[in-house]
Amino acid sequence: MVFKIFKRTKDVKRDKKAKEILPYVRWKIKKECLEMILESSKSAYPKEFAGLLRAEGETITEVILLPGTVQGDAHAIFNFAMLPIDYTIVGTVHSHPSYSSKPSPADLHLFSKHGRIHIIVSRPYTMKSWRAYDWKGNHIEIEIIG
Ligand code: ZN
Repeated sequence: MVFKIFKRTKDVKRDKKAKEILPYVRWKIKKECLEMILESSKSAYPKEFAGLLRAEGETITEVILLPGTVQGDAHAIFNFAMLPIDYTIVGTVHSHPSYSSKPSPADLHLFSKHGRIHIIVSRPYTMKSWRAYDWKGNHIEIEIIG
């Protein structure tokens, strides 16, 4: 249902409109996927880790690195021209080399253009140092499942 709305959107304007009428989604993430994100963020520090979130239904199951991605400034990493047409990809994840998981203006711009759910991880990269946002930058809860 969500998939269909997303698929027929062609440009950002229509995409935004479609997202506004999306039904409420109860996002979940697999524990091992979150652990992988935290580990990758920790090992990338002081550089930033960045990837795409893949979901099965409402559950985030996998993180995908973009082809040619190198660890560095996450805001430069997301080259969406490299993005395969893949509707299982629901959003982005990146780490901050600081204690703040608050989205920057560049993050908010990215969120508004691509995907429906975005995770930002911050130091010290533990189960408590991450937050998720919707495409508007509103904080949203994700349930961790085993
Ligand atoms: Zn950021």
